[in-house]
Amino acid sequence: MPTVTDCLFCRIVVGEIPATVVHETDTTLAFRDIAPKADTHVLVIPKAHHDDALALGEADPALAAEVLAVAAVVAKAEGVTGGCRLVFNVGSAWGQTVFHAHLHVLGGRPTPAMGVE
Ligand code: AMP
Ligand code: ZN
Repeated sequence: MPTVTDCLFCRIVVGEIPATVVHETDTTLAFRDIAPKADTHVLVIPKAHHDDALALGEADPALAAEVLAVAAVVAKAEGVTGGCRLVFNVGSAWGQTVFHAHLHVLGGRPTPAMGVE
């Protein structure tokens, strides 16, 4: 099978690259971050490619809302009851390294790198 795209997360969506999927809908995928920065660190993505969260919100606000709804499902399923952090990094200057929109769901004990004590 030829590679359909160079985008890492698009390749996870089509199963070319393995991921630990924790939740899936027709339009979204949630999987564990490969380098977790907290006890719970799940990425929620739209299956459709959008370069970042702002592009997603502009092009398809309903899909952006679905991503947030999935974050709520994931937080509940992961037992993230003591609060959590939801992060969209947009642009390399603000830490975005994968240019397919994704929402970080971080909960439980953070690592020191998160700057949360
Ligand atoms: P960001 O820096 O906001 O673009 O976040 C990208 C995230 O993707 C980082 O937290 C990485 O650890 C994570 N990541 C990179 N490659 C993979 C992968 N193959 N599977 C799961 N998470 C990944
Ligand atoms: Zn993509």
